[in-house]
Amino acid sequence: MIQGVVVGSGPNGLAAAITLAAAGVSVTVLEAAETPGGGTRSSEATVPGLLHDDCSGFHPLATDNPFSRRFDLTAHGLRWAVPNVQYAHPLDDGRGAAAYRSVDETADRLGVDGGRYRQIFGPLTDRFDAIATEFLQPMVHLPRHPVALGRFGVFAAPPATWLARLFRTEEAAALWAGVAAHAFHPLSTPLSSAIGAALGTAAHRYGWPVAVGGSQAISAAMLSLLESLGGRVETGVTVSALPDLGSPDIVLLDTAPAAAAAILAERQPPRVARAYRRYRHGPGAFQVAFAVRDGVPWSFAPAREAGTVHVAGDLATVVGAERDVWRGRMPTQPFVLVGQQYLADPDRSDGDLHPVDAYAHVPAGFTGDARGLITEQIERFAPGFSERIVSATVRPTPEIVAHNANYVGGDIVTGANTARQLLFRPRVAVNPYATGVDGVYLCSAATPPGAGAHGLCGWHAARSALKQRGLLDVLDRPSIGSHAGDGSRK
Ligand SMILES: Cc1cc2nc3c(=O)[nH]c(=O)nc-3n(C[C@H](O)[C@H](O)[C@H](O)COP(=O)(O)OP(=O)(O)OC[C@H]3O[C@@H](n4cnc5c(N)ncnc54)[C@H](O)[C@@H]3O)c2cc1C
Repeated sequence: MIQGVVVGSGPNGLAAAITLAAAGVSVTVLEAAETPGGGTRSSEATVPGLLHDDCSGFHPLATDNPFSRRFDLTAHGLRWAVPNVQYAHPLDDGRGAAAYRSVDETADRLGVDGGRYRQIFGPLTDRFDAIATEFLQPMVHLPRHPVALGRFGVFAAPPATWLARLFRTEEAAALWAGVAAHAFHPLSTPLSSAIGAALGTAAHRYGWPVAVGGSQAISAAMLSLLESLGGRVETGVTVSALPDLGSPDIVLLDTAPAAAAAILAERQPPRVARAYRRYRHGPGAFQVAFAVRDGVPWSFAPAREAGTVHVAGDLATVVGAERDVWRGRMPTQPFVLVGQQYLADPDRSDGDLHPVDAYAHVPAGFTGDARGLITEQIERFAPGFSERIVSATVRPTPEIVAHNANYVGGDIVTGANTARQLLFRPRVAVNPYATGVDGVYLCSAATPPGAGAHGLCGWHAARSALKQRGLLDVLDRPSIGSHAGDGSRK
């Protein structure tokens, strides 16, 4: 039997392991942490009975993609829940804007900008399945939907600040800036619209769902599926060198590129090792988990129903904050993301005490304390917030790195979204998963299609490994763990 080892049990590591196991490979996953799941772990971070997501909270691209269509995680207990409002962006004086599932509902509330919003997001939403098929895989491929991809490219290619100029109101421009800031990259650079256009459209096509029972439910379902396919996970094992793995036929590394280069050492061609070491990481994050009595009292009412709230202020403030952190300066008004997963998944709360997960974008390797700034930013748009805090647990940037080695310098998306790395990550190569070492592949979020708890990097990397061994047809046969009769959708 072919032996496979996966290093790292994040969603991509687990997706890779499942994909290999479904093709008959005997798989072991080795995980450094004591708990598997990487970015899909949850915990009672503040007070017992309140469930927080340690990292990933919202999963717009995880519910319907080639991996989720091939492997039925719902049969292993995973359930999704969508909040009433997908994301909101409060402004001063109780103003703001919000994205709803429906493009029309969103547009109708944007006043004079409604028509423009509908013009952009209407056609993108209608064609999003085709568009997603194209960008949820390596860039070097023959497009099956060139027209839809071209239309997406019109909005994805320009700087986000250019698209913002299409809107006349502060509200619509801020709504756009907030979703574009998920790129963790200055909004004035080419392609800085790409992630905002994708996530903004996904909000209408799929919503921004949370996993019922916390994001840990994603890894729990993956682990259950993996075990049903004969795979297993060993925790508390940090892999630092390839020889530590024995001599498996296939190795998949769910690690940052520089860590992969260190593991592969002199076996990796120097050209590839150099590219891995030069791989660029982006700014960091600083997290605070709050236990909040009666929830956050947002002045802008739709934010009280929103899964995600983008907290910063107007377009100029978001643009300035993202530019500053990229340049290594801590802004006085940072971009803060507030997760209110409990609104869609009420069992995470304890009565009127609710878990609220916040993080700020901070410079890479930030060693300061951003808790005060995060609290102030929320308080600015939700007066009285501080008085409702019952408990708060801080995870400073260095602890984020200690919690997960893939988040180099606190970079929670495992790689800067520069134009080059959006198109070619981790390096310019026909097969971005190949490490240059026979049988060894990189499968983390540093590979296409990039960050997110969707498992697609693992799926594509494992398929690449299986293809090389002539095993793809075994995987593509509907079998254990697949959606019944779903073979035609792959
Ligand atoms: C605060 C925060 C908020 C986020 N919000 C969202 C969100 O809302 N939606 C979303 O889709 N994504 C979100 N993300 C990003 C998402 O979590 C990641 O993109 C995703 O988890 C990447 O998956 P991965 O499998 O590539 O790596 P990871 O999930 O990072 O897992 C890598 C695993 O490999 C292990 N590992 C690394 N090196 C070694 C080694 N040498 N030996 C053994 N094990 C090793 C690590 O311990 C870790 O468990 C967020 C992340 C953070 C931190």
